[in-house]
Amino acid sequence: MLKLIDVEAGYGAIPVLHRVSIEVGKGEIISLIGANGAGKTTTLMAICGVVPLRSGDILLDGQSIRGVPGNRLVDMGVSQVPEGRLIFPELTVAENLDMGAFLRKDRQGIRDDLDHVFELFPILADRRHQQGGTLSGGEQQMLAISRAIMARPRVLLLDEPSLGLAPLVIRQIFGIIQKINRERGTTIFLVEQNAHQALKIAHRGYVMENGAITLTDTAARLLENEGVKKAYLGI
Ligand code: ATP
Repeated sequence: MLKLIDVEAGYGAIPVLHRVSIEVGKGEIISLIGANGAGKTTTLMAICGVVPLRSGDILLDGQSIRGVPGNRLVDMGVSQVPEGRLIFPELTVAENLDMGAFLRKDRQGIRDDLDHVFELFPILADRRHQQGGTLSGGEQQMLAISRAIMARPRVLLLDEPSLGLAPLVIRQIFGIIQKINRERGTTIFLVEQNAHQALKIAHRGYVMENGAITLTDTAARLLENEGVKKAYLGI
């Protein structure tokens, strides 16, 4: 569904991504793991057209989306949950969710998705009139995921959903990401430093080091890989 082919990208004169090739199949959860500064966020920014490609290509359903801006991508079924969540702090929970459905016109569909979001995250229903900025970190992450779901994406891109959250909240959020994939068939591309949680819910994974993919396999095999265990799982 989403395919990166030999992607090279960077910032100004600084190259960051080196011939990155990743395939995300329809209905899969794919996790990209790697250390701080490996280039995971840059990979997502390249997909979303924020960081321009120097060479290579990115395909969605077989069509190039190279340089297509984020708002057009939402229309094409690709939504992103950025690192650090970036919800609208002054807006209420309900208003934040409305923003996620901004490009949609199917009112009944929007109402159904709102019910679905409140089912996934009942706490957001309780807090629908509360300002986004006053939510806890975990609740803000739930809101950021929910806002992205309100666009009814076929592909959901998540940048480090575990960042700064307590282990219990991380488990809860990853459980819900898995539920979204299972129940709605949403394809998920997850970028994470928390390799254990990311691989636990993924079908397949990629390991990135210094801007290059160094290993790819099923998530189950990566969790058993001695190199991955030592470098990323602290075992
Ligand atoms: P983290 O998990 O810490 O977010 P990451 O794997 O997502 O790390 P990136 O944020 O993609 O890594 O960064 C990859 C490299 O690109 C780093 O060396 C970083 O310093 C550099 N970089 C990131 N953003 C910029 C920028 N705007 N200008 C110049 N260099 C940048």
